[in-house]
Amino acid sequence: MRSKSASRKSQASSEGASEEDFSFARNRLLVEIADDAERTESYTGRASFKESVMQALADVPREAFVPDGSRRKAYDNRPLPIGQGQTISQPYIVALMTDLLDLKPDDRVLEIGTGCGYQTAVLAVLASEIFSVEYLEDLHRSAKVRLTDLGCQNIRFRHGDGWQGWSEHAPYDAIIVKAAAARIPDRLKEQLAPGGRLLVPVGRQHETQFLTRIVRSPDGTFDEERGLPVAFVPLVEDR
Ligand code: SAH
Repeated sequence: MRSKSASRKSQASSEGASEEDFSFARNRLLVEIADDAERTESYTGRASFKESVMQALADVPREAFVPDGSRRKAYDNRPLPIGQGQTISQPYIVALMTDLLDLKPDDRVLEIGTGCGYQTAVLAVLASEIFSVEYLEDLHRSAKVRLTDLGCQNIRFRHGDGWQGWSEHAPYDAIIVKAAAARIPDRLKEQLAPGGRLLVPVGRQHETQFLTRIVRSPDGTFDEERGLPVAFVPLVEDR
């Protein structure tokens, strides 16, 4: 990972897969993502993703984020279980969502749903500060340890309910939600800076969810655009 002193080598020797195997698989995955981007243009409005986004995916060692026993599948273009009923997102979806955030190097980003921290690591390559909230304490703790070990220094972690956002550090230039919300969380809209982008899968579980992109204009109004149909685990509501 760029300038963050992450070493892939420690992960590479497991399960008989070498760094060369991973590097080959990683390059093949980038080609598959580029193909997917082209095929889904009518939903996403983007036939290709930014060079910087593709480079970030090339830089982050996905094998370090999947459970032991799944490392050989780390570069398959599909989601994988990470325990506790949760998943690591499909790499194409990570690329798409990252691209749709239109990140600039100085941006401050709020992520809801740290999970294993893979998306977090990709964001950390592209933006200046990442604030990541996770509801499940075990996942929160292990992601924090993993990303710290990988040398990421621009991420702050919080164990809590993402519906509330993280108001102490608001406003954010971009907010990304990695679980499906039954409706657009108002508290997150409020925490967007003028010009800020909020990306959230909207829909109930087992119903079609749509990746929804909301932009806060400088005069404070919100533009909302419904995009690709997706399937995410639900954004838990704390009652
Ligand atoms: N970011 C991960 C995806 C994780 S899956 C990746 O890169 O692959 C979605 C995550 O959202 C799960 O870890 C789940 O525990 C978390 N989550 C669900 N409801 C939440 C809530 N209300 N607040 C914060 N996190 C939540």
